[in-house]
This record gives sequence, structure tokens and C-alpha cells, in this order.
Amino acid sequence: MNGKLFIIVGPSGSGKSSVLMEFKKKHPEYTYPLSATTRDMREGEKDGDIYHFYTKKQFKKGIKNDEFLEWAIVHQDNYYGLIKETLMNSLENGETVVREVDIQGFDSIREKIPVENLVTIFITVPNKQELVDRITTRAAISKDELDKRLESMHREFARARDCDYMVENKNGELEKTVEKVEEIIKNESAENN
Ligand code: 5GP
Repeated sequence: MNGKLFIIVGPSGSGKSSVLMEFKKKHPEYTYPLSATTRDMREGEKDGDIYHFYTKKQFKKGIKNDEFLEWAIVHQDNYYGLIKETLMNSLENGETVVREVDIQGFDSIREKIPVENLVTIFITVPNKQELVDRITTRAAISKDELDKRLESMHREFARARDCDYMVENKNGELEKTVEKVEEIIKNESAENN
């Protein structure tokens, strides 16, 4: 296996999914494996773009059929799982693979993917209040949902030191953040050749 898997992690609201989406637009030459989720589809999302939207029943069947490299319950009620087959084939084929997951996914992936095939990038923000603002303005969410996201946020912040790289995503500077991620991926991929 000589491909590399770049995992983007970071607290809820750090902008890691925007970074990934922007990155995907700019770099169609890389591989972006899909995950399955049981959460509702948001406006502007399409099935098969970043996620497959599963019912809980479909998801549980996927677990039974060993469809996921890892899976987790995120924010205490929805299932998320990284679909294994295309991801592993891509790594076998030497491709550069990029995906975002939560911290639980990060922990599982570190146990399953050899260290020489894995690079982890932590996306953070200059201050925590900015995160709270982003979480509350991104989509209408209940107080209960907000509390859950904030709780995950504090837990996730503490994990930056376990990642290979840390990139600050300043408000309104998505393009710069994407450039920093590009540089990391380019340098790490060059080491492979
Ligand atoms: P969202 O619902 O906002 O797209 O994502 C919620 C959280 O689920 C984010 O922290 C995101 O990184 C995480 N996530 C997305 N896909 C996966 C996956 O396949 N596995 C795990 N463990 N977490 C995921």
C-alpha cells in the first residue's frame, strides 16, 4: 500500500468541511472517499458528493456487512461511517486520499492505517468564541444540539497535539487556509516519490 490518506480533523465549526469542499473543487486529481451518515441532508448538499445519506436501518446493515473503515455516533445521535472499499482500493493504487472525520474517527483510523500512509491535519480558529458564533449562524439548531456541539468542541480542541499539522482557519480567509493544506499535501506527497 503506497497511497497516502490525509485526514482533516478539528472542532465543530472550525470550517473543516468548507476547507475540504473548497479543496475538492480545486483538486479533482485527488480522491475523496464518501462517508455514510444518518443526519438530515442540508440545503445545497447532494447524496454522493461528500456523504451517502442512510437511514439508521441502512447504517446498521452497513455495520453488519463491514462496510466501514470506522464508524461513530457523532454529537450523540447521528451515525457517521467512512466507507471502506473505495478508500482502501485508492490507497492500494498509490492515490492521495483526503477526508474529514471527527476525533473518534481519527482515533480509529490511527489504529487501522499504517503510520507511513497517514497524515493528520488539525484545523483550528484563532479564538473559541468565533467557533460558537459559527456553529450558531451556520444552520438553525436547537439549544440541545448546540450544547452537544459545544461539548464536542472542547473535547476536540484538546487533541490538536496528536496531529501531524495544525492549520489556523481565520474568519474570511478560507482561500489561505486551503493554500496551507495544499502545501502540506504537496510536500507529503513528494516525500512518497
Ligand atoms: P456534519 O454533520 O457537520 O457534516 O459533520 C459532523 C461531524 O461528523 C464532523 O465533525 C465531521 O468531521 C464528522 N464526520 C464526517 N464524516 C465522518 C465519518 O465518516 N466518520 C466519522 N467518525 N466522523 C465523520
